[in-house]
Amino acid sequence: MTTFDVVVRGGTVATAADRFTADVAVADGRIAALGHDLAGAEVIDATGKLVLPGGVDGHCHIEQRSAAGVMNADGFESATASAARGGTTTVIPFAAQPPGASLAEAAADYHARAARGAIVDYALHLILADPRPEVLTNELPPLVEAGHASLKIFLTYDIRLDDERALAVFAAARRHNLMVCVHAENHAMIAWLRERLVARGHGDARYHATSHPRHGEAEAVHRAIALARLVDQPLMIFHVSCTEALAEIRRARAAGVKLFAETCTHYLTLTRDALARDDGRGAEWICSPPLREAHDVEALWRALEDGTLATVSSDHAPYAADATGKYGAGPAPAFTDVPNGLPGLAFRLPLLFDAMVRRRGLRLEDFVRLTASEPARVYNLHDRKGSIAIGKDADLAIWDPTRRVTLAHALAGDGAGYTPFEGLEVQGWPVQVLRRGETVVQDGEVTAAPGSGRFLPRRGGEAAEPSGRPVAEMDAGRNFGAKLL
Ligand SMILES: [Zn+2]
Repeated sequence: MTTFDVVVRGGTVATAADRFTADVAVADGRIAALGHDLAGAEVIDATGKLVLPGGVDGHCHIEQRSAAGVMNADGFESATASAARGGTTTVIPFAAQPPGASLAEAAADYHARAARGAIVDYALHLILADPRPEVLTNELPPLVEAGHASLKIFLTYDIRLDDERALAVFAAARRHNLMVCVHAENHAMIAWLRERLVARGHGDARYHATSHPRHGEAEAVHRAIALARLVDQPLMIFHVSCTEALAEIRRARAAGVKLFAETCTHYLTLTRDALARDDGRGAEWICSPPLREAHDVEALWRALEDGTLATVSSDHAPYAADATGKYGAGPAPAFTDVPNGLPGLAFRLPLLFDAMVRRRGLRLEDFVRLTASEPARVYNLHDRKGSIAIGKDADLAIWDPTRRVTLAHALAGDGAGYTPFEGLEVQGWPVQVLRRGETVVQDGEVTAAPGSGRFLPRRGGEAAEPSGRPVAEMDAGRNFGAKLL
């Protein structure tokens, strides 16, 4: 009888498709067998527990500067340790090109820092703040060769692209089979409202929500889709927050546009009421798009159920609740002086497990799909990540579905020093986490060494391939013979 390196014995295994009772056997870091009475050099008793694929967080900011230049509160070690504590074993943070700088240098810099600090496995999205022709033609191809397969662009902030440059990025992505992720909000509306609000004395955190109008999000979503559609380039719309943006995504998908969209934990669990707290701490809940209203929360849940939204990420973007972060402009800053973002890597899975499986009536399989399998598929990591099947990396989170936990920052262990989810009680907790067969978290304690996480080179894969249904103007059979794609 074969003796495997590790056997996780007797748990209820769940994937996006099925759940069943089985032992999971690991050899050389990969899942080698599913069965009964399997023998291992190390045996982990999972009786009464759930054995789920480690989470895949497709959108998180680690060791990255804010749009205004403030360094976020996490290094790769603290951020990925907090991810692992919450059952996430794969992350896709960013390598951000500063305007005017080299994309290749930015990628090398983030890659080196991730290699030194990361505890979980990682890929990188490349943020294109300055897609000048030499960057797209000279710098991008070797990065694609090196295994980078997704780009991110912004339609707001100082690093925003105008429509023409966005189109140039979409066309380059199409050439190289890359996914493009978009932060879609209308910049002019935000800039105009910010100035007007502050001029009228409305600097309190609650007006951050007012300054990011929901139809401005919808407008930018619509425009990003229209531009990408011209060149038949698939998109991932990041952090969808409101009903109006969902309507745009639904309409495009119904028209056959190849399109993915995500929301984030905080849009599913919090509202703008957090910004209007009377203890003066509203700044700690400032993120963009902003937290919306209760009816948006309900609409986002429906969109997860009907497939409009493909994944849920954390958009982890931690700034400490002190002068190094949220309060750099003083103890009662105007919302315009607060870096945007919330910490969220640690509690994404516990909050969603509790909300989906216990309170919202989704299936355990849906939880696995939305938080692990589908992000792995969209970012073309599913040959290794996001499921429990023979040959995949043995990234396993062993959950106690009965454990009740009151969320507190000490459990997250990231660099933010606070959690926006403080005091919420959840049921269900990852008590042991394995990465490639090695226990990296046991009862909240991180046991893996910094730098033991691996880079995951990848291609864009099927999700990033054009739909093959070009609009008429781009179709040589319908445009008087012009070859444009
Ligand atoms: Zn983000």
